[in-house]
Amino acid sequence: MQDTNITYDTLLTTIDQAAALLGLQEADYIMLKYPERALTVSIPVEMDHGGIQVFTGYRVQHSTSRGPCKGGLRYHPGVELDEVKAMAALMTLKCAVVNIPYGGAKGAVKVDPAALSRQELKRLTRRYTAMILPLIGPEKDIPAPDVGTNEEVMGWIMDTYSMFKGYTVPGIVTGKPLDIGGSLGRREATGRGVTLITRETLHRLGRPMLGTTVAIQGMGAVGGTTAKLLDLEGCKIVAVSDVSGGLYKRSGLDIPDILTYMQDHPGGFLSGYNGEGIKHITNEALLTLDTDILIPAALENQLTLDVAPRVRAKIIVEAANGPTTSDADRVFEQMGVIVVPDILVNAGGVVVSYFEWIQNIQSLTWDEEAVNRTLEQIMIRAFNEIWQAAARRGITLRLSAYMLAIDRVVKAKKIRGVFP
Ligand code: NAD
Repeated sequence: MQDTNITYDTLLTTIDQAAALLGLQEADYIMLKYPERALTVSIPVEMDHGGIQVFTGYRVQHSTSRGPCKGGLRYHPGVELDEVKAMAALMTLKCAVVNIPYGGAKGAVKVDPAALSRQELKRLTRRYTAMILPLIGPEKDIPAPDVGTNEEVMGWIMDTYSMFKGYTVPGIVTGKPLDIGGSLGRREATGRGVTLITRETLHRLGRPMLGTTVAIQGMGAVGGTTAKLLDLEGCKIVAVSDVSGGLYKRSGLDIPDILTYMQDHPGGFLSGYNGEGIKHITNEALLTLDTDILIPAALENQLTLDVAPRVRAKIIVEAANGPTTSDADRVFEQMGVIVVPDILVNAGGVVVSYFEWIQNIQSLTWDEEAVNRTLEQIMIRAFNEIWQAAARRGITLRLSAYMLAIDRVVKAKKIRGVFP
């Protein structure tokens, strides 16, 4: 696996490019280059077999200019503060791209969740929540799931926060189980957004979904749902992978069967799946397959300068955060590969998180049809704005998306002014 840390510098380079195109002076956007707050915590956890292990955790709040901070919580052994800062800034831009009233944040704990028992994970989550308590709240900063965390972890955060407050506060996290205030449609929202953006991209290029070949790296919450929905839309999913490696079948994989296998083997890996005509391939081989569309949906920095010249897909739909390094991005531009950027593609998750938060603070429940319909409207509006501006200016979709986002954040900052 490549170095998985997306550096803050990579992000700053793109911010500078977009700001220059917008004609901004450095003073207009310099605040965007710094997170407003970054907290590092040491989390002691009593382990099942005795003894205490101390884990390092972070919560970074990048911007509150457009509203409370919003961002996922990642459990991964490789996380570093620099990467969390970059992901928090990406969240600010993502919320601005889809025009929802949030700034960006991100949290992480340096831990391999698979190496902990459920009880250890619960104690870790509760202690982490207690330690970041001064920063979070429904009007301040609202965590959500990301790599290595799930609905159950969100439920523990909600309960811990509520215990400290003395009353139930569902709006403290999104991506919670339905029974404690989660939203219908949230579980599938990111993958649904990826599917919508893929559909709109093909539509703009005058190509049908039917028979379009797709390779997807990562079969977690995002990749798994994307595979399911694109398969339903008629795309031919020829390759999928997880951390254990990939599966490939030129005539198309049986996605429902693979998803059933994954459900029946919790914690199991795709390397254990077998079927007629299936070839087991490496993750790198998946990235360079001859397909119409490549969807990285695992971790950051997967498409590097080394891999980029060998990528044969003509469209890359970035479902993961930061899957493409900036030097690889330049290679794709030269090769004429269309890269649909992460801050647009995977925004469906935060959009439905926003709906969940609205329902929580208003004590309302939306039906799933309303959630999906409103999600679609928001995603398509953002896609059209970005596509049209890119075509008008002759720039990449990434620069176009950054310009749209930075313009909105800078306007908010200007209106509010610098305190004091
Ligand atoms: P997840 O933990 O549910 O799944 C991650 C998947 O990637 C797993 O299948 C894992 O095996 C696989 N993986 C890990 N390392 C890999 C590697 N080196 N090669 C191939 N596969 C590998 O995580 P997720 O929630 O699906 O998140 C995936 C990406 O989408 C992340 O970049 C995340 O930040 C981003 N994202 C997630 C959400 C969300 O709602 N969950 C929203 C926006 C963006």
